[in-house]
Amino acid sequence: MFNLILFGPPGAGKGTQSELLISNYSLVHLSTGDILRSEVAAKSELGIRAKELMDRGDLVPDEVVIGMIKSKLEANPDASGFIFDGFPRTAAQAEALDGLLTDLQTSITMMIALEVSEEELINRLLNRGKESGRSDDQDKSIILNRIEEYRLKTEPIKDHYAAQNKFHPVEGIGSIDDIFDRISAVIDPVI
Ligand code: ADP
Repeated sequence: MFNLILFGPPGAGKGTQSELLISNYSLVHLSTGDILRSEVAAKSELGIRAKELMDRGDLVPDEVVIGMIKSKLEANPDASGFIFDGFPRTAAQAEALDGLLTDLQTSITMMIALEVSEEELINRLLNRGKESGRSDDQDKSIILNRIEEYRLKTEPIKDHYAAQNKFHPVEGIGSIDDIFDRISAVIDPVI
């Protein structure tokens, strides 16, 4: 299996590049942000609880997102690989993911981190907020809180993958196609 973590701060382009990756490689896309937003839209009990945290730009509890990923892995037994987008976001999530993949007799192949300056992230998110109506993209203080959560809780987990020689930084500035080409250049020799 080929299991990719697409990593980077909010607004780095993980969702956009995931779309291109799934149409060019046969991988299953698992985005915890997308799954949570569909729970919010369905007004499920989980969605109602998650919405409050997401609207503030805080992380949803680890056990909630780990449970979501576990059930998506179980629902796709024939997948040739997964793209993890927005997960793992904490050390506990990274450990849980290792365990879930070990149970499936597989592991993370690599982490690709999209690198974008903070100024560019804020501009992209505010623009996305105007177009998509996503409420967490419309308020600068919520955006800054998400970036802060990323710096404090998420960014450090890259060391876990770097220690296994699985960490690959990719410049996330430029055209969507150019960035995709940079990602492909890292994936193609391995997939
Ligand atoms: P972005 O990368 O633009 O912040 P996402 O769509 O990945 O957007 O996530 C939106 C929100 O969903 C996050 O701000 C957070 O509240 C919640 N969320 C998504 N994934 C996770 C996760 N793995 N752990 C905890 N909370 C998460």
